[in-house]
Order: sequence, then structure tokens, then C-alpha cells
Amino acid sequence: MYARLSGSALLLAILQLSLLTCCSATIRADWQAEYSEGQFRVHTQVDPDRIQPAVRRLSRLQKQIEESLQIELSDQTVDLLIFSSQRQYRDYVAPRVPEAVNRPALFVKGPDALWVHVVYDNSWETNLRHEVTHAFLHASLPFLPLWLDEGLAEYFELPESAKGVNRKYSGNLVWRMRLRRGLPTSELEQLQSLTEMRPDDYRDSWAWVYFCLHSSNETRTLLQNYLQTIQREEVPGAFFRYLTAGYPSAVATAERFYRSW
Ligand SMILES: [Zn+2]
Repeated sequence: MYARLSGSALLLAILQLSLLTCCSATIRADWQAEYSEGQFRVHTQVDPDRIQPAVRRLSRLQKQIEESLQIELSDQTVDLLIFSSQRQYRDYVAPRVPEAVNRPALFVKGPDALWVHVVYDNSWETNLRHEVTHAFLHASLPFLPLWLDEGLAEYFELPESAKGVNRKYSGNLVWRMRLRRGLPTSELEQLQSLTEMRPDDYRDSWAWVYFCLHSSNETRTLLQNYLQTIQREEVPGAFFRYLTAGYPSAVATAERFYRSW
């Protein structure tokens, strides 16, 4: 929920190194079933009938991201590793990525592979969608600021019917805005690693993504253009400079947007 591994270039580099030495050959665990579903290779310790509806919904998630962000997502294969318990997850992850054993789920980008690890529990589909969003974005974009990577994952982890409204943040955010506490901008852009990211940073990252996608056509287009620029392997510069160059009152408008929510 709070500290997923994807997004941190440094941490990913470390992970990639450790993955190269530990698990590039085969994925070994006590899998109940292994099969392909679209672009996903599923390795599951849980009855496939119980996970299959959520796995099938991932193809719709891909379209939802493409439609919302107006970028084309890669169809690179993603390995989904679904564990029957936190203990099974921990036993599998500990020798490979020891720093991730206490996280609820994990995305790892290898040299030629994308791995999503998730425990089958009450929030497993949310965690699955969060990590698969990271996998889609990392397979499709040459880079992405950490805060934006997490903000997008927090937005798309919800079922499509939620329309991006993340209830774990929205009430607290509105309260803060009414107390005239502003939304951070450059502070988010300075975040370099997941170990620096606090729950408030996830909330504020989600808030900027939600505001851009729902406030107006103008803000939505600016976010889309920013991501398209990255996809073309051009350097758009810092997001908030880009946003306020196209929409000078963006910060004040965002704060008003949440105050009156
Ligand atoms: Zn994440």
C-alpha cells in the first residue's frame, strides 16, 4: 500500500542486479497452476477460478490507462506471481529482494522481464492493479518521475467504476485544503526513492493525477502531453514547471478544486 519498489531508479538498479544473480533462470515456488492469459503469464498458489476474473479485468485496465493518458502501452509479457499467504510471499521474496519482504506487493523490472508479486488477501485486486499499472508504465515509457509513477498507480489501482476517487485519501485531503494547507509541488519532484515516500506523499501524488485528469480538458491535455513527450524519448523537464507554463493558476485552482469537493 505505501511502499512499492517500482519507481526508484536506484532501488531498481539494485534489484536488477540481485535478480540477475538469483532468479533469472526459472521461477520456482509451489505453484498450483501456471498458464497464460493475454499478455500475462500467471503463476498462482491460489485456485485459478478464484483469481481469473481479476486477471481478465487487467486487459480492461490496460485500455483504461491508454484512454485516460492517451499513450500506447507495451504488450510485453508480465509475469504475475500470486501467493496464497504473506508467509509464502515472504519466503519467495526474502532471498531475492530482502528489502521488500514487508511490503504488501512488489513490482520488479528485470533486464527482459516484468514481475508482479502479490499476496491473495482482501486487498489483492487493488494491489494487483497498482503493481500492474507500474509494469505497464515501465514497459512503455523510458522514465517517469517517482511521484508521478506512484500517483498514477494509486489512481488506476481502483476499479474503473470508482473513476479514480481514492477514498483512502480524499476525505483527509479535503480537510487539509479547508485548513488552507497547500498541495506540494517541487517537494514531490525532489523525492528520489521509495524509502523517502511517506503516506502523505502518495496522497498528494494521487491528488495531482486526479486533479489533472478531472479538473478540465486543459489540465488533462497537459498531463497527457507531458507523458507523450516522455514516450517520444524527449525531455519535458519538471512536471510542475510544465503544468504551470500551460496553466499558470494550476496550483491555486487545484486547491480550490479540493476545497469545494
Ligand atoms: Zn507503487
